[in-house]
Amino acid sequence: MVGCYNRRATMKRILTGDRPTGPLHLGHYVGSVANRVQLQREYDTFIIIADIQALTTNFDRPERLRQDVLNVALDNLACGLDPARATLFVQSLVPAIAELTVIYSNFVTVQQLAHNPTIKTEAAQYNFGESMSYGFLGYPVSQTADITFCRAHLVPVGEDQLPHIEQARKIVRKFNATYSSVLVEPEARVSTVPRLVGLDGSTKMSKSLGNAIYLSDSADEIKRKVSSALTDPARIHPTDKGHPEVCVVYAYHRVFNADAVSDIAERCRAGTIGCVACKQLLIAALDRFLSPIRERRAELASRPDTVWDILETGTRRARAEGEQTMALVRQAMKLEYPSAARPGGPTR
Ligand code: ATP
Ligand code: MG
Repeated sequence: MVGCYNRRATMKRILTGDRPTGPLHLGHYVGSVANRVQLQREYDTFIIIADIQALTTNFDRPERLRQDVLNVALDNLACGLDPARATLFVQSLVPAIAELTVIYSNFVTVQQLAHNPTIKTEAAQYNFGESMSYGFLGYPVSQTADITFCRAHLVPVGEDQLPHIEQARKIVRKFNATYSSVLVEPEARVSTVPRLVGLDGSTKMSKSLGNAIYLSDSADEIKRKVSSALTDPARIHPTDKGHPEVCVVYAYHRVFNADAVSDIAERCRAGTIGCVACKQLLIAALDRFLSPIRERRAELASRPDTVWDILETGTRRARAEGEQTMALVRQAMKLEYPSAARPGGPTR
């Protein structure tokens, strides 16, 4: 363990994570989690469970948060995140993130946020119309605080997050140019599958769109979901010639059944495999992929106290990192006052 901490001191850092708005799905796995698991050996990895960001769309359902925080932690651990290497923590318990969010709000214009393409897409999905909250509009600013509070270099994310990383880089550059170079300018790392399509054929599999296969889904749920997935609408009979490139099932074969995918595509184009048979092959492939994750998850879920302990340890480390960053930021911004040093004054 000591060796592990020594190594951390010389490593570059990763910050990435998820909103606790439900369990994680296949899109998370291929878009970000697989990269996290692989990179945790080379990078000092921080995984944020972004409960404050979840509130930007779920503030009126606080009773779900606790279980969803646990779900997201369980999913990450079941996929192979190792608490001896990675620091899993809860966003709302790290005060530096809230402090930096307020400070950074001066470095971004309302126009920039309103023109952010991901904000626009999501606002349309949630039907915000004229009623978008200040918190939702500003979540890329809070995300900049998530990334910079621990001075992360790399952010493994899905494609939808790229405008937010670009925004974060702009804020960091402006801060460093205005005061002094205390913040680290982060870089995004997108995976080989930057955007996994949803079961309904909409562009992105998403927790909030109800079009996801969850890492924790049972074999029966997978069967039901794949059976209802959108296929080539031009194909009526199993012998019709298909167009795999427009088929959701084919998109999943490409990622989760790579060994068989070219054969499946050929048979689909020739009309020698029907959609039902093709879906059965996918169900089997997904089951092979998800079974070990499901087993590890069930084992961990039977010991929730262990998971809360992991989060507590990770959060303690994240808070300490946040305090160090805030000391640098306060010094750079001259937010330092004599009263802080007097007995009985602020303890910061
Ligand atoms: P919500 O709908 O509640 O926003 P989400 O499914 O978009 O949930 P997030 O927690 O917002 O999930 O995203 C966590 C990480 O997973 C981000 O890096 C995001 O880019 C990535 N991700 C989410 N969905 C996909 C997807 N379908 N394909 C690739 N990456 C994804
Ligand atoms: Mg999202």
